[in-house]
Amino acid sequence: MTDRSMQASARACANIALAKYWGKADVRRNVPAVPSISLTLDQLVTETRVRFDESLGADVVRLDGRRATVAEAERVIAMLDRVRREAGLRLSAHVTSHNHFPTAAGLASSASGFAALAAAASAAAGLRFNARRLSALARASSASAARSIYGGFVELPAGSRGDSDLAARPIAPPGHWNLRLVVAATEPGQKKVGSTEGMERSRKTSPYYHAWLDQAPRWSRKIKRAVKDRDLDTLGAAMEQSTLAFHCCAITSDPPILYWAPATLAALATVRGLRERGVSAWATMDAGPHVKALCGVGDATRVRQALDRTPGVTRTWMAKPGPDVEVHR
Ligand code: ADP
Repeated sequence: MTDRSMQASARACANIALAKYWGKADVRRNVPAVPSISLTLDQLVTETRVRFDESLGADVVRLDGRRATVAEAERVIAMLDRVRREAGLRLSAHVTSHNHFPTAAGLASSASGFAALAAAASAAAGLRFNARRLSALARASSASAARSIYGGFVELPAGSRGDSDLAARPIAPPGHWNLRLVVAATEPGQKKVGSTEGMERSRKTSPYYHAWLDQAPRWSRKIKRAVKDRDLDTLGAAMEQSTLAFHCCAITSDPPILYWAPATLAALATVRGLRERGVSAWATMDAGPHVKALCGVGDATRVRQALDRTPGVTRTWMAKPGPDVEVHR
């Protein structure tokens, strides 16, 4: 019979990178080559339950109500193995996870997914990790997951080859700045090139990759300062530059990685049009076709309505700064 203490669940929110992460310094240890800054989002939530169970002969992984694919299960089991090693545990685990938003579609399910898994698995294994250790554990599976351990505004520094305990750290709590992020989903379905594969292809083949590595820390510093000063215009301009520069690396990879759909450009034009009419709204995109617009709380309804009316936008969400990861036994 399973000891009741060998199970735990966790709830984590995805995050949006304001200063973008693209490129790894160490692929095996999953160490980012550039610093990134993010905002944790209350609306994009993953809930994960982990049970270590002596009656199981192998790990069982269920994602969004179905059996995980081999590739999905491998990433989860790699995290379980790290937790088992730390805890000196040999039991197999039953993992059930649910993303309350589309998986692998460029909405950062890997961030909330691996943050929730790190928290639930380590608690179920009896490890009493503080937030810093949880963040380092999550980072080994997904760098953006390291940031989702914390609520509000978060930074993940760049690391170097061989780093094994690089972790994110909070910059400001959710209540620091009442921003809104409007997510405009464009094309349905999973992205064609996963982030890890895309980053490696850019590193190996894009002529602009080194320029990106050179400039990314500058945008990151500017964005961190702007977060502290609550200066949306400065933050937004640097965020758009950071976004377009990383997409430039992706687009100029060989073969090229073009995440954009026609509706991506239409949504970008909507955000630019709002700005021309005096609204401080700023766009960012991740490794996918969706557009996310950052704005103040007073402009959020107008920004959302404009994106809802944009041709090709299928759905919008409105998120605000979200909380730290939560663990329940
Ligand atoms: P996204 O933009 O959604 O983060 P990625 O391709 O970067 O897309 O990551 C998606 C992958 O992350 C999935 O294919 C799966 O392997 C993993 N993943 C997503 N959600 C979860 C979850 N809740 N639990 C475990 N792994 C997850």
